[in-house]
Amino acid sequence: MKIGFIGLGNMGAPMAANLAAAGHAVAGFDTAAPAPEGVTSVSSAVQAATDADVVITMLPNGQILRAVADQVIPAMKPGAVLCDCSTVDVDSARAVSQQARSADLGALDAPVSGGIGGARAGTLTFMAGGRQQDFDVVAPLLDIMGQKAVLCGDSGAGQAAKICNNMILGVTMLATCEAFALADKLGLDRQKMFDVVSTSSGASWSINSYCPAPGVGPQSPADNDYQPGFAAELMLKDLRLSQAAAEAADADTPMGALATAQYQCFVEEEDGNGRDFSAMLPRFAARSRR
Ligand code: NAD
Repeated sequence: MKIGFIGLGNMGAPMAANLAAAGHAVAGFDTAAPAPEGVTSVSSAVQAATDADVVITMLPNGQILRAVADQVIPAMKPGAVLCDCSTVDVDSARAVSQQARSADLGALDAPVSGGIGGARAGTLTFMAGGRQQDFDVVAPLLDIMGQKAVLCGDSGAGQAAKICNNMILGVTMLATCEAFALADKLGLDRQKMFDVVSTSSGASWSINSYCPAPGVGPQSPADNDYQPGFAAELMLKDLRLSQAAAEAADADTPMGALATAQYQCFVEEEDGNGRDFSAMLPRFAARSRR
C-alpha cells in the first residue's frame, strides 16, 4: 500500500518505520522531526497525501489535525482513507471524518494506547471509530503497528474510548507516584515496593509497564531522566479532554478532575513542561504534606 504519514514525533516515527519495514511505501512529513529509516521524507503534508491509499496522521491536538485535514483532504485520491491516530477531542474527530466523507474518502479516528514502547515494538492497541468498510481497509496496517484494534462504533467512538482510558492512566500514575514517595518516607526500598505491588492488587500498567522509579521494573522514561515518553503536557491535554467530555455529558468524574488539577499545576506552575508524565514521582518525593 502507498501510505502518507503526517506527524513523525515520538509516536509517529516508530509507527511509520514499522510500516516501512513491513514493505509498504511510506511518504512521511513533519514540520520539525526528521523521517525515520525506511520512510521517504517529503516536503509538505499535501505531497505525503497525494496518491496515497491511506493517510495516517499522528499530531499533537485537534486544532492542528483540523488544519492538516483542510490541506490534505482535497489532495487525496477518491476512495482513499484518512486515518487519524492522534488523541483529539471527539468534536474534531467527527468534523474531520465528516469532511473526508463529503469528499468521497474513507475516515477513521484510531487513537492508540501503549506509549513509545508499544509504538516501537508494534504492540499498540488501536481504538477506532468509523465505518466497518474503512476499518477493513486500514486493519492490515493497524496489525503491523499494533497487537489489537477494536472498532468501537461510528466516528468519534475511538476518541471517546481513548479519553476514558487516559483518564484512568492519569489517575493510576498519580496514585503510583504518590505511593512510591510515601514508601520512600517509610524507608521502603523501591525495588521491594515494585516487587510487591506489581504482583499485588495495586498493580496497573503505570507500575508494571511504565514504572516511574528509575532503575526499577522494565525500561521506562524514568531511566532516561524523565525525557518523554509521554509528555506531561500531553497527559494534561488528555485529562482536559476527559473533563470537557464529562462536562458535556454531565458525568461525575472527581478523580479525573483531581488528576487534571495536579497535572495542570505540574505543567503550568512547576517544571513539568517537557518532562515525562511519570516525573510526578520526583515531584511528590520533593514535597511535604504541610
Ligand atoms: P510529538 O510532539 O512527539 O509528535 C507530534 C509531531 O507532530 C511533532 O514531531 C511535530 O513536529 C509534528 N507536527 C506538528 N504540527 C504539524 C503539522 N502541521 N504538520 C506535520 N507535523 C506536525 O507527540 P507524540 O508523543 O508523538 O504524540 C502524538 C499524538 O499521539 C498526540 O495526540 C498524543 O496525545 C498521542 N499519544 C501519545 C502517546 C505517547 O506516549 N507519546 C501515547 C498515545 C497517544
